[in-house]
Amino acid sequence: MTTLIGALLVAVAVVIFVLQPVVKGIQASMGRTDDELTDTEARKRVALLALRDVEYDYLAGKLDDADYHSLKAELTAEALAALRADEEARARVSGTAFPGDEELEAEIARVREGLRAGVVCVVCGFENETGSRFCSSCGQKLGPPATNTARQHA
Ligand SMILES: [Zn+2]
Repeated sequence: MTTLIGALLVAVAVVIFVLQPVVKGIQASMGRTDDELTDTEARKRVALLALRDVEYDYLAGKLDDADYHSLKAELTAEALAALRADEEARARVSGTAFPGDEELEAEIARVREGLRAGVVCVVCGFENETGSRFCSSCGQKLGPPATNTARQHA
């Protein structure tokens, strides 16, 4: 009998432990703050992270040139659309003009440069100053991904 009660207590403790973040999440979404990501910001983040992964996979030799170029084109288009949606949502709120495609493309090029230089954080996506060794947002060690020389022979 005592073992049953013991097992029950453990089960209850596990349920409470598991549900804790869920409950916290519900509370957080009810009391939304300004620094949380909006839908368009989240979409932009996902698109840019996907683009970053393609760059890293290519540098690591996991993608061949053809795959890299087609994936990059596809994801750049998605990132552009996401950036545009985000800028438009922002402009709607602030009442400023929408940036043009050139500006958006420049932003994507800048992010890609940062990824290649290893200053964009692989964990949180934060763009750090050139030459940074650690992410100033989350503390992650920065640096370009290890290049795989085997790629030339693949
Ligand atoms: Zn970071």
